[in-house]
Amino acid sequence: MSKNTRTILKVGITGGIGSGKTTVCKVFEALGIPVYYADWHARQLMVNAPRLVAGVKELFGPDAYLEDGALNRPYIAEKVFNNDKNLRQLNHLVHPAVAEDADRWHHAQENVPYTLKEAALLFESGINKQLDKVITVFAPEELRLQRVIARDKVSAKEVRARMVKQMPEAEKLKLADFVVYNDGAHSLVRQVWDIHQALLATSEIV
Ligand code: ATP
Repeated sequence: MSKNTRTILKVGITGGIGSGKTTVCKVFEALGIPVYYADWHARQLMVNAPRLVAGVKELFGPDAYLEDGALNRPYIAEKVFNNDKNLRQLNHLVHPAVAEDADRWHHAQENVPYTLKEAALLFESGINKQLDKVITVFAPEELRLQRVIARDKVSAKEVRARMVKQMPEAEKLKLADFVVYNDGAHSLVRQVWDIHQALLATSEIV
């Protein structure tokens, strides 16, 4: 395949809460790789995508939005907190909307060997099936806990409550094509550079 028609690979990056996904993505961005931050886009789409807004209102009622059109976050949080059925139904609306948006975004990219899609629930939502490669960022639980407590000013209990809702780290490691160890003992830049080189080589042979 000639360079001009080269396929742009779709690469996903995931990891548990506080593992360092965003931090690692910043290194890829410094190498010129565009990153789609799925959680950020999901929040935008929940107020800007008419079909999704209509779906959320149908699911949770008009109180899901404030008068100015902003999402009524405390109301939604109450609806999904400890209610797995509501959370599943909300995800069922949001995940396809984000997948569609990410796909549009990916196809709008030019002159890059691959794009990165950052998502905390990459495997849980099945997004990985639409990707060519997946990177898992790994950090020990205790370190993730300390980092999130420091970053979000929340309690250990709150962080642990979020952790138990995510797929165990061992599973994410098994499913990954590449792993970045963000444990303070390995160089992030070195690891990202090596993965970048491997992805460049892969993008040339597809
Ligand atoms: P979340 O899933 O909550 O969005 P995340 O996986 O994107 O988190 P980051 O936000 O990148 O994780 O990192 C969590 C916190 O830990 C941040 O405050 C970040 O600055 C810090 N951090 C991440 N990696 C390192 C590191 N190698 N050394 C020091 N601090 C780090």
